[in-house]
Amino acid sequence: MKSKFPEWLKRRLPAQDKWMQVEEVLKDLNLNTVCQSAKCPNQGECFVNNTATFMILGKNCTRNCRFCAVNSSRPEKVDPQEPINVAEAVKKLNLRYVVITSVTRDDLKEGGVNQFIEVVKEINMISAEIKIELLTPDFQGEIEILKKLAAADFEVFNHNIETVPRLYGSVRPEADYKQSLFVLDKMKFLKAELYTKSGIMVGLGEKKEEVIEVMKDLRKKDVDILTIGQYLSPSKLHLEVKEFITPELFAEYKTIGESLGFKSVVSEPFARSSYHAAESLA
Ligand code: SF4
Ligand code: SF4
Repeated sequence: MKSKFPEWLKRRLPAQDKWMQVEEVLKDLNLNTVCQSAKCPNQGECFVNNTATFMILGKNCTRNCRFCAVNSSRPEKVDPQEPINVAEAVKKLNLRYVVITSVTRDDLKEGGVNQFIEVVKEINMISAEIKIELLTPDFQGEIEILKKLAAADFEVFNHNIETVPRLYGSVRPEADYKQSLFVLDKMKFLKAELYTKSGIMVGLGEKKEEVIEVMKDLRKKDVDILTIGQYLSPSKLHLEVKEFITPELFAEYKTIGESLGFKSVVSEPFARSSYHAAESLA
């Protein structure tokens, strides 16, 4: 296992007071963030900049991806108050760009899409100026669910492809590479004005040519925005880091991605799908 962190993966400590203020708002409103649940290394920086990714539909996921720190156990009841609370937090934190994600809810017939739609409605009631990015599960590729979602009023549809197809069996065993591409493609078809976005983790044993192939596959589906970040193992029970990708290779991926026609490529060791999300639209 690659346990020794290279210099470029060492982070400065965040400003504690701001961090605590954000945490307090989230706790008061009984909200989860993927920042905390996934132990994201950018929490300090993002919270200080009033950015957080709300994770709706509970803390427990019906899937068990081997890279992910989110709990995998019996899903919770859908909280009807949650959309109102997310909007309240957006107001309190004065957010202008909001990212909403969820655990995967394969147990729900509608995959949890209704809660996404309610959250969007509540946020739009605060101000039409707020930009909303939805980072969703694959909804098992259900076309009726995607149609429902496409009717909601939001700006960016994000669905992570996560890794190269060869590694799906060990990284994302319950997901399907082609299905994820289909979901991205379909959402663009259903709502042409949407920006579509996807992300990949590197350092899991993928080859450079495979990453480039994934980029090409995403461009064939007209995906606009791409994020590429270093995979970091959340615990000893999760997949090991196979390689620390150098900043030079991240820069090269960015150049390649831009040459393939992505409108924005965030490719850095600490890039996560919601990292610097607002700037990708600028
Ligand atoms: Fe949260 Fe995304 Fe920032 Fe990580 S990068 S702390 S998940 S907003
Ligand atoms: Fe984590 Fe998403 Fe996989 Fe659930 S489906 S375990 S939240 S990556």
